[in-house]
Amino acid sequence: MPINELIHSLSKMPGVGSRSAQRIALYLLKNDKIAVAQLITVLQDVYEKVHKCENCGNFSTARICNICADPARDATQLCIVETVSDLWALERAKFFRGRYHVLGGVLSAIDNIGPDNLNIKELLARMQREKIEEVIVALSATLEGQSTLFYLMDVLEPFHVRVSSLAQGVPIGGELNYMDNATLSTAFQDRRLLAS
Ligand SMILES: [Zn+2]
Repeated sequence: MPINELIHSLSKMPGVGSRSAQRIALYLLKNDKIAVAQLITVLQDVYEKVHKCENCGNFSTARICNICADPARDATQLCIVETVSDLWALERAKFFRGRYHVLGGVLSAIDNIGPDNLNIKELLARMQREKIEEVIVALSATLEGQSTLFYLMDVLEPFHVRVSSLAQGVPIGGELNYMDNATLSTAFQDRRLLAS
C-alpha cells in the first residue's frame, strides 16, 4: 500500500515519529496534486544535483562549493567541523571568513568510527596543498569530540600550523547548530591556542 510506504519513509526522518508521519502523509494526500508534484521535482533536483564538495565536504551543486571557490575567503584559516549543519551554523553567525573542512563525524569506539571513516585523508591532502596557517577545531565538547581533537593535533603536528579549539561555552554534548550566534561567535573569538 503506497500510503503505508510513505508513512514508513517519513517516520524514518529525524524528529518525525510515526504520528507526525501520518499527519504529513494526510496533508500531502489532502493537498492539491500540483503542490505534491512540485515537492517531487524539488526532491528529485536535490537528489540529482546536490553533491559533496570535493575539497571540503560541504554540499554543492558544483564540483567545488561556493565557499571553497570564493577568492574573498581567507585561505589561511581552516575551520574543522563535524557536519554540514555545523558549517551552516557558523555561516549563519557570519563572523568566520576562512574556509571549512567537514569531517563527517567524530571518532567513536562505540560506533566503530575510526580515522578511515572520517574525511581525514582529504584534510591532510589539503594541508599539503593549501597555504593554511591556522586550523580551528570546532567540534562538540563531547568525549568523542575531545578525543578527535587530540587525534587531529597529532596528525596536524608535522605541518607546523597553529591549532586552536573553541573556547568553553560550547555546551557539553551540544551541537554547534543549537548555539545562538552570539555564544558561537564568543566561543570562536576566545578560542584556545593548543599548538603553534
Ligand atoms: Zn568546499
